[in-house]
Amino acid sequence: MKAAQVSDIVYLNGDWVTGNNAKVSVFDRGFLFADGVYEVIPVYQRRPFLPELHIQRLQRSADAIGIAPITTEFWHQLVLDLINRNNLDDGLVYIQLTFGADSQRSHLPTQPLTPTIYASLSPLSVHWNTPKPVKVAVLEDIRWHRCDIKSISLLGNIMLKREAAKRGAIEPLLHRDGRITEGASCNYFMVKQGRLYTPPADHLILAGITRTWVIQLAQQLAIEVHEEALNVNELQHVDEVFLTSSSREVQPVGQIDDIIVGNGQCGTITAQIAEAFHASKRHLIQE
Ligand code: PMP
Repeated sequence: MKAAQVSDIVYLNGDWVTGNNAKVSVFDRGFLFADGVYEVIPVYQRRPFLPELHIQRLQRSADAIGIAPITTEFWHQLVLDLINRNNLDDGLVYIQLTFGADSQRSHLPTQPLTPTIYASLSPLSVHWNTPKPVKVAVLEDIRWHRCDIKSISLLGNIMLKREAAKRGAIEPLLHRDGRITEGASCNYFMVKQGRLYTPPADHLILAGITRTWVIQLAQQLAIEVHEEALNVNELQHVDEVFLTSSSREVQPVGQIDDIIVGNGQCGTITAQIAEAFHASKRHLIQE
């Protein structure tokens, strides 16, 4: 039995090599300045889930930091090639795109650069039943104001995730001046009197693809959705909370710091949405 690991074959700047043999220059702007963006796409039974939305977001992030556009066809083919070259049914495609390698460390590039493109596939344990509720910790959002860009600079996110872990929580639940934003690597949804609330997709959050999909599923289920940031004070009065991300899918939250959400179990609306989410994965696989 092989231990979980990053894919055997990764893509780096036009080459297909084993992960250990993929080498990037120390002058790469991604390494020196985190001058790059990334994307993560779930793969179920060798089929990418919502690839168009993920690739659009990658293009938007690249555009926001000034990397010249790369064709949509290139990205789609890269995802398919990664799946074909690796022996993994369920996984997460990771794509990283940096501004490229210069000949020295300089805040502004000293010459026109070719972007560095790296992609790998790592194992994913897919949920087919709703997972057990988890605990999250309320923390102040200390990150920059362009969280809409999927930047490889994740220092703020990682510091917050470490602090949450110290408090026995799997994720922070972040806020700015009391207004809820998101997690370190997920979006949040709250249910209050049968309505679903999630913070708006502005510059303060990353508009998750799972979030977009969940909003659509909720609308199909005739659940009212409000893209509105709740205040942390309101957390005492919410009936259900769940978080979403490509790797966690729809994850019920049973506890926020010392507050038990509802009865601490997965709520009915969360369960309905999680089931609709599993159904869309089954649909993809059967297509
Ligand atoms: N917010 C942040 C900060 C994230 O890092 C992620 C996951 N990468 C998400 C939200 C969820 O995005 P998605 O549903 O596209 O995985």
